[in-house]
Amino acid sequence: MSAVAEVLYSQAEFRRFAASGEEFLYLVPSGGIFGVSPAVRDALDLLEAGPVAAEDLLAGLVAKGYSLADADGIVTELFQARVIRDQTGYADPPQEAVEDFPLQSLVLNLTNQCNLSCQYCYEYGEDKVATPEGKPKFMDETVARASVDHLFASAQGRRAVHITFFGGETLMNFPLLKWVVEYGKSKARETGQYLDFSLTTNGTLLSEPVIEFLAKNDIGVTVSMDGAKEAHDALRVFANGKGSYDIVAPKVKALIARHKSRPIAARVTMTQQVTNVKEIFHHLRHELGFAEVGFAPVTAAPDRLYTIQTKKMDSVLDQFRELAYEYRDYAVQGKAHGFSNVSDTLAELHAGINKSHPCGAGLGLVGVGPSGDIAPCHRFVDSDEHALGNVLEGGMDKWKQKEFLAKGHIGAKYDCHSCWARPLCAGGCHHEAFVRYGDTGHPNLHFCDWIRDWTGICLEIYGDIAVQNPAFLDAFEKRKALQ
Ligand code: SF4
Ligand code: SF4
Repeated sequence: MSAVAEVLYSQAEFRRFAASGEEFLYLVPSGGIFGVSPAVRDALDLLEAGPVAAEDLLAGLVAKGYSLADADGIVTELFQARVIRDQTGYADPPQEAVEDFPLQSLVLNLTNQCNLSCQYCYEYGEDKVATPEGKPKFMDETVARASVDHLFASAQGRRAVHITFFGGETLMNFPLLKWVVEYGKSKARETGQYLDFSLTTNGTLLSEPVIEFLAKNDIGVTVSMDGAKEAHDALRVFANGKGSYDIVAPKVKALIARHKSRPIAARVTMTQQVTNVKEIFHHLRHELGFAEVGFAPVTAAPDRLYTIQTKKMDSVLDQFRELAYEYRDYAVQGKAHGFSNVSDTLAELHAGINKSHPCGAGLGLVGVGPSGDIAPCHRFVDSDEHALGNVLEGGMDKWKQKEFLAKGHIGAKYDCHSCWARPLCAGGCHHEAFVRYGDTGHPNLHFCDWIRDWTGICLEIYGDIAVQNPAFLDAFEKRKALQ
């Protein structure tokens, strides 16, 4: 604390919140969570009205009964934790887009064909970005091999890598899925890396042999379902308009009964017609038996009939809040609840995440389509405009990748710079941004209030669990260790 007389301290950027009778700060520059002790509160009170000279801050603390040495220690700790700042800010250089960031996750779109005709589908619906004309409809072994080779060649230094199978309807190319599992395992044996598989499916093709294979090979499964029969059949239909619930539900039950080594998850796409979150959660979690249920709003232009309007999103938030509190009550008793929107956010808060980009797309994760084109993620597969190279033709085009990442970097999103939720949101999904604004780097400003409210709820839940059953948060340590 030399030359204290020249230094002016002020409160740094944080969000103050209370949980279970205790107070916390969510530190925006670092993404960390900091418990407010009486000493911290005293120091912050002194800075409430604006910047204060260092010597006056120390004197103020001494006047509140602290020794000079303790006051100095408090101020130093607060500065180092970024709870307070001086007039020069911090010495950190701004975070740059990372070059040669090792790949961790490969999403293989095994086919761009689907046996359902969901109106809102981002691949075939009104807002599709894919341009599949003239490209193969099914991936073959040559492309799959080159994709897996690309993953391992680009994932050096990673302890664990992931392959996710996607579609179209993934299981329409089940023979290739089986081949990739064998090939991927042989590559992982060579490199000594841990390889994990998962797939997303609409559930219609979950036959007994498929389920057996998934269970035996420990493959994580997410089934796209929109709730009980009426909600599910509103938009998840076959080409003849018939709903798919009656086909999918018994297959899901058989999957859950056989496949016990991984939590089987449901993923719900919320539309204007499907917003009864609590009822949907209850059905999928407790009547069908999914271990986890996650919700995401449909990605669509604002004027589509199925796009959720603001009023409905308010009701969704109220229901999310109720489910989040239920999650907290389970967590306090050490029990798993299954609302994965909460677990995903708690995991990020626990890891102290401060994102340069909203997600791993184009960074630690890429999608590859049947043609071998590399896309930032599964949602951009088969789009000429967004292709970042081809696994058969030299792999990743580093310039295109750099351009995509520079656009999506938080530093380029000026609207987000004063937002306290930016460590987790970082402007939101690139694909949604493209559908809404025609630019993958545009912040998703249509949901900001919603995102901030939801993040605030999750902070409170995190604080409650940290106070009442901190051991529950250990599970997130294990999740982090596999990243
Ligand atoms: S998109 Fe909105 S909520 Fe997200 S970081 Fe930017 S301003 Fe904040
Ligand atoms: S761009 Fe959007 S859809 Fe793609 S990985 Fe990121 S958040 Fe997911």
